[in-house]
Amino acid sequence: MEQVYDVVILGGGPAGLTAGLYACRARMKTVLVEKALCGGQILITDTIENFPGFPEGIKGPDLADWMFKQASHFGLEVMMAEAVSVTAPKSGKEPISVTLADGKTIRALSVIIASGARWNSLGIPGEKELTGRGVSYCATCDGPLFRGKDLVVIGGGDTALEDALFLTKFANKVTIVHRRDRLRATRILQERALANKKVEFCFNSVAVRVAGSQRCEGIDVKDVVTGSEKRIKADGIFVLIGMTPNSGMVKGVAAIDEKGYVICDDDMRTSAEGIFACGDVRRKLLRQVITASGDGATAAFSAQHYVEHLKGVEYK
Ligand code: NAP
Repeated sequence: MEQVYDVVILGGGPAGLTAGLYACRARMKTVLVEKALCGGQILITDTIENFPGFPEGIKGPDLADWMFKQASHFGLEVMMAEAVSVTAPKSGKEPISVTLADGKTIRALSVIIASGARWNSLGIPGEKELTGRGVSYCATCDGPLFRGKDLVVIGGGDTALEDALFLTKFANKVTIVHRRDRLRATRILQERALANKKVEFCFNSVAVRVAGSQRCEGIDVKDVVTGSEKRIKADGIFVLIGMTPNSGMVKGVAAIDEKGYVICDDDMRTSAEGIFACGDVRRKLLRQVITASGDGATAAFSAQHYVEHLKGVEYK
């Protein structure tokens, strides 16, 4: 007979792993679907300083590993696959289908979307061509390759500043190019970047092209106030300009906002019955490991209540 799970969790970052931990401890029949290694973005985060309980900070991959082990300890089943679509039932009486990239389907009484978000690109000439040859989207992965080099970081958010500071461990100089005259990043990161002698700023500037043919040689930037262009010579360009939510699998099924974030209520319920969302994929104010984990716990609890109600009413 076909297996019907109580809950299928799509995504194995902090939100999904926490949802898995709570769902398994609630004795729900649970499977977590993840296309790569569990851990999500913290796998490529050097140190996390704002997850409570670690006064010295904690390495992202260590936290990911411990979250995974903790959920596994309570019996979380993990399936390595990519979910491409979720089909909501016409009524809550029948299971929801999740279609995987290989065409197989999983059926469950509830679904938790924890699929996170992916890094944005600039879309300028030279960016695609020189990706992996000086253009990078991951300071933790590629930073050590640029020992003693001059680097450019594009962006003014937490990621840009945190990663620029990380890059100063290796680089000779890091120039932060930001399109406005004010940074978006949290104040403590701004203070650290401003105090770091290896960090320079290029405000009110947008990147127009990556220079170089075989390897990145620099970036051409345009001053948005004067309109003038200049080249900043650099061996590496780190593009750290935010994220796009991975919500494609629920498009047309659950409500999403104009940027693609899934809209939820306080209890992580989406507009579609039996479908919940948590972490970076959902519309919210603060995207952090701690808020992703909190969302995951709430989503699992809401899914548990939903499934118990469903079973009590329809599956007695
Ligand atoms: P973000 O907060 O959305 O910041 C993106 C930055 O890139 C902004 O400064 C934005 O400029 C700029 N930008 C966007 N599109 C651009 C474009 N086409 N060209 C040039 N610049 C562009 O993204 P994030 O820094 O990746 O952070 C994502 C979330 O993760 C945030 O909620 C953040 O707080 C969180 N996070 C937290 C930590 C931490 O607490 N330690 C670390 C990393 C990330 P504008 O400012 O002009 O919009």
